[in-house]
Amino acid sequence: MLSTADALATLLGAARPIGGTETLATLDALNRVLAADVVSPLDVPPMHTSAMDGYAIRTADLAQGGRHLPVSQRIPAGHAPQPLAAGTAARIFTGATVPPGADAVVMQEQTEATDSGVTIVHAPKAGEWITAQGADIRRDSVILPAGTRLTPQALGLAASVGCAALTVVRRVKVAVFFTGDELTMPGEPLKPGAIYNSNRFTLRGLLQNLGCDVTDFGIVPDSLDATRATLREAAGAHDLILTCGGVSVGEEDHVKPAVEAEGRLSMWQIAMKPGKPLAFGAVRRGADRSEADGEAFFIGLPGNPVSSFVTFLLFVRPFVLRLAGATHVSPRALSLRADFTQPKGDRRNEFLRARVNAAGGLDLFPNQSSAVLTSTVWGDGLIDNPPNHAITAGETVRFIPFTELLY
Ligand code: AMP
Ligand code: MG
Repeated sequence: MLSTADALATLLGAARPIGGTETLATLDALNRVLAADVVSPLDVPPMHTSAMDGYAIRTADLAQGGRHLPVSQRIPAGHAPQPLAAGTAARIFTGATVPPGADAVVMQEQTEATDSGVTIVHAPKAGEWITAQGADIRRDSVILPAGTRLTPQALGLAASVGCAALTVVRRVKVAVFFTGDELTMPGEPLKPGAIYNSNRFTLRGLLQNLGCDVTDFGIVPDSLDATRATLREAAGAHDLILTCGGVSVGEEDHVKPAVEAEGRLSMWQIAMKPGKPLAFGAVRRGADRSEADGEAFFIGLPGNPVSSFVTFLLFVRPFVLRLAGATHVSPRALSLRADFTQPKGDRRNEFLRARVNAAGGLDLFPNQSSAVLTSTVWGDGLIDNPPNHAITAGETVRFIPFTELLY
């Protein structure tokens, strides 16, 4: 059996970034991956600005003992000031340009306005309440490197340097289908022996969160011909074909022979729980199905709802992000205290559904079966428990929050 780390390394080693780019309005680029560095054409802030409502002054004037200054000008934000005359103060507001000559701002709470000017109650240090030109961003610096995934705050940063459009990697095109004659769509009556196709909802949501362009082929019957036909149809216009179910070795599992017939396939037994079987390969493209037309990547996930969810998070997510050219594809884990005991370790690397309690420790969902989807909603992350490791209450474990895995 492959270790989780080896399986991930092999998968990422095979992922070739798709490369195609498009230019989008910055407002429309949320969650996309930058294809080129964003370089700032200006300093931010572009001038020295006041961080407070108050008075701009020259500290040297106060050092000479004067605490009362006449007010020589009024500077609202967005207006260009005159140089500050020596021995005077300028009324100034947050975000306004500090006048040449001034070297500090006194917040208005530490002043008293008088008929003839302003009394400074507290003498400021040089630089006080002034945000220096370029304090946030220096002109010509790379503010967002290629490979960055655009969070809301990254879009704000790009906009702060006046960037109206961004060059991003095109969306990764993913075809997805589901195997199993027992699967029924919600809205249909459930016949004897049938279950609802919950994975369709989970996996589509996961792919959408990653910014993929998803084609959903729905439920494909448990037959070799139907599976092969869907693979052929999907390969042409997609970067990745993702399937769910049918990758075990039962007689009703047609995904393996279908992919072998239409391309190539490696079946991995990964020493993880939930999960274990994962299929990785490629499906040939094009009418004559020759090498020259290229291939679509193929990943076959196990059908058990928790297994497909966890294997998606740990393997498909970083693979898709790598296809999209993202630099950071590994989730950041936390070291947290286990507030439970699990007396027996498992031969495999377990990914236990757990959640953070009010005391900052971790509680474990009582049923860790790979068929119990409830655990994935109750939990807010996975404990990455190494093989053969029992957990004692109080020990520190590796916890990967879902916030690091879902987007
Ligand atoms: P399989 O990997 O096809 O052997 O399926 C393993 C288990 O997962 C079986 O109990 C299936 O009924 C169940 N399963 C497979 N696909 C889905 C799905 N799309 N939604 C919910 N359960 C599924
Ligand atoms: Mg099946």
